[in-house]
Amino acid sequence: MSVTRRQFLAAASASGASLLAGGAAITAARGERTEGMLKLASQEGRIPGDSLKEKIDRMVEWQMQGIEFGGGGLPDRVDEIEKALEGSGIEVAAICAGFQGCIISDQESERQKCIDTMKPLLEAAGVIGATGVILVPAFHGQTKLSNAEARPILVDLLKQLGEYAVSVRSRVLLEPLNRGECFFLRQLADGAAICRDVDSPGVALMGDFYHMNIEETSDLGAFLSGGQYVHHVHLASRRRVLPGQDERSFVSGFRGLKLIGYQDHCSFECGCDGDPMVEIPKSLDFLRRQWDEATVPVGVADV
Ligand code: MG
Repeated sequence: MSVTRRQFLAAASASGASLLAGGAAITAARGERTEGMLKLASQEGRIPGDSLKEKIDRMVEWQMQGIEFGGGGLPDRVDEIEKALEGSGIEVAAICAGFQGCIISDQESERQKCIDTMKPLLEAAGVIGATGVILVPAFHGQTKLSNAEARPILVDLLKQLGEYAVSVRSRVLLEPLNRGECFFLRQLADGAAICRDVDSPGVALMGDFYHMNIEETSDLGAFLSGGQYVHHVHLASRRRVLPGQDERSFVSGFRGLKLIGYQDHCSFECGCDGDPMVEIPKSLDFLRRQWDEATVPVGVADV
């Protein structure tokens, strides 16, 4: 018996709710996949407060889970950070850059400078329990190498740096940026292929919703391509203000994070239109609603 398009649509509509609800949970129950989780975090500077303790207290009040620190001066802040976080339930999400040099510079001395300045950041990150240290291979103007020349150099140096990262219980997190800021690494799939070639648990990847909006054709597809290598996420809207302050949707990306069983933090890296004391709680509510909307079709969850 043939099924007409009208009959098919009617059937799909009637069973739509059950088809779309809880796919990840179903597969997790089968032991095939870990269900992704939304752990909301922020860069330190985004949260209002005169001291780190005050910011942490505010994040607890807003039911956030993590804080991201800049890498500049991090090794000297380890005690301060451990003390401020103690007993708060707030985790360290990731460390944002802070290194010098350029790992794919055409100058060997600049490449070495990057390695040498990444190591103390990775060590401090390991002590305070951060998932990793964010590394941008090259911003515009930092290298004269072509992609073909830079790629093998990067893979070789990341193998070394990855080994060091593992020894101090941390990770390098490659961050793809948009074409306005870099040419070398712009999409998660490309970053994932670099991680695959490096083949070290000390080298992973992150996604930034602001850059992804410019470079990716699908947030869902991007996170699926990133897969097991995705260990951090930056949150920002299309205009790089708080999520919810413009039309940028996070549903497709959140669906991808659910499908890959994402366990790390999603962290604000953005400006804010208006009073952050009012706007941040609104943005957090918006993100929690978007996460709930990001249902996973059962068939897709088995991909
Ligand atoms: Mg970012």
